[in-house]
Amino acid sequence: MTLLKAVRGTRDLLPPETELWNHVEATARRVFARYNFGEIRTPIFEDTSLFARGVGEETDIVSKEMYTWEDRARAQSEKSQSLTLRPENTAGVVRAYIEHKLGESGLLQKLYYIGPQFRRERPQKGRYRQFWQIGAEVIGPPSAGSESPLRDAEVIEMLSSFLDELGITGWTLVLNSVGSASDRPKYVAALREALAPVKDQMSLDNQRRAETNPLRVLDSKDPADEAVIATLPKIADFLDDESKAHFAAVLSALDACGVKYEINPRLVRGLDYYTRTTFEFTHGGLGAQNALLGGGRYDGLSEMLGGPKAPGIGFAMGEDRLVLTLLAALDQSVAPPQAAAFIAPLGEGLNAAALALARELRHAGLSVELGDGSFRLKKSFEAADKTARAIVILGEDELKSGILTVKTFATGVQTKVPRAELAVFLQ
Ligand code: ATP
Ligand code: MG
Repeated sequence: MTLLKAVRGTRDLLPPETELWNHVEATARRVFARYNFGEIRTPIFEDTSLFARGVGEETDIVSKEMYTWEDRARAQSEKSQSLTLRPENTAGVVRAYIEHKLGESGLLQKLYYIGPQFRRERPQKGRYRQFWQIGAEVIGPPSAGSESPLRDAEVIEMLSSFLDELGITGWTLVLNSVGSASDRPKYVAALREALAPVKDQMSLDNQRRAETNPLRVLDSKDPADEAVIATLPKIADFLDDESKAHFAAVLSALDACGVKYEINPRLVRGLDYYTRTTFEFTHGGLGAQNALLGGGRYDGLSEMLGGPKAPGIGFAMGEDRLVLTLLAALDQSVAPPQAAAFIAPLGEGLNAAALALARELRHAGLSVELGDGSFRLKKSFEAADKTARAIVILGEDELKSGILTVKTFATGVQTKVPRAELAVFLQ
């Protein structure tokens, strides 16, 4: 029989590395709570048209990376439907915002999510077909202040605090403004004009994009096309006064709290829905996949999905890449967790008593490994040394006298401890 393996681009996350994943998620929940965000969980699959409309038909994600299937009807009353595994979560959150009329409260909605996303990409380090994102959105009616540049700065400041708290240093924040929906057509026309005489020198993908969605040429990662891209007009020269003032206000709020940034006039990001502020946090330790996270403002997305006017700003972090960065700092390995004690029953007749003792200690809050009475003492010691800080020997004598033999591995000291004092001793 051929051995079954995890599908290409997917992977199993195993302990002790999963400790690191939990640590990243717990840090995100703790930091986001300080900014008064609440958690949203949307379905992992959605109607395909949500992404086609929300993310944009001509983006790489929609044009070639989605897992889409025709979901058969199960009853005559149902129709078959085209469904897609979510490639990102902003479209789902905005769909939920519209569906549950969250804007009617008149308040800003501050929502975060943690979960898997799916894209059919070429798998490599830091790039997988199932990967995890931790993201957040701030969205609401304009009267709630959702358009304010303060929202952009606050979200970006939160991210810098999050990375600091996680202990990731050496990141770079790159910012740009891609202007409003009304700036865009002028810029796209200028791009089209500039691309017309040079597009033949570019990759086939970019020749197609130059026709269908010229903005997407800018986020092409093809090194061969870089020289041409460097000659193209910059969006900064096409921003209207309002967009310029908005961007300046974002920058001055970041300056006020000392968050350092670089401006990259080519940063447009791979999704059609972005307006005004776009940003990325990159990290040198990640190699080619150097983006830890990306985000931006999406003032027209709700309306594109048939909802009310609901400007917003959000981001998505690549959790896989956060973990890779932390792993590199730990020299690629996480120390396996150590139990406080390993209980070694001397003979199978003591197994039940050993379980009762383990229960007592666990109820006292200790982490306990339970051996087995069939083990020889040497084997118990070997297993205990690998998994716990101390071994507790439970033989007939210990059970009767209530005085246990405990050996602490770090010191090599063996002592007798009364059962009533054992939990405190092991702490
Ligand atoms: P990239 O430029 O690396 O392809 P992207 O612009 O496609 O990223 P977004 O769609 O903005 O990325 O997603 C936000 C973050 O999610 C990225 O910055 C990255 O950390 C992470 N990410 C995106 N695609 C993958 C993937 N296939 N595997 C792992 N992480 C990913
Ligand atoms: Mg991508």
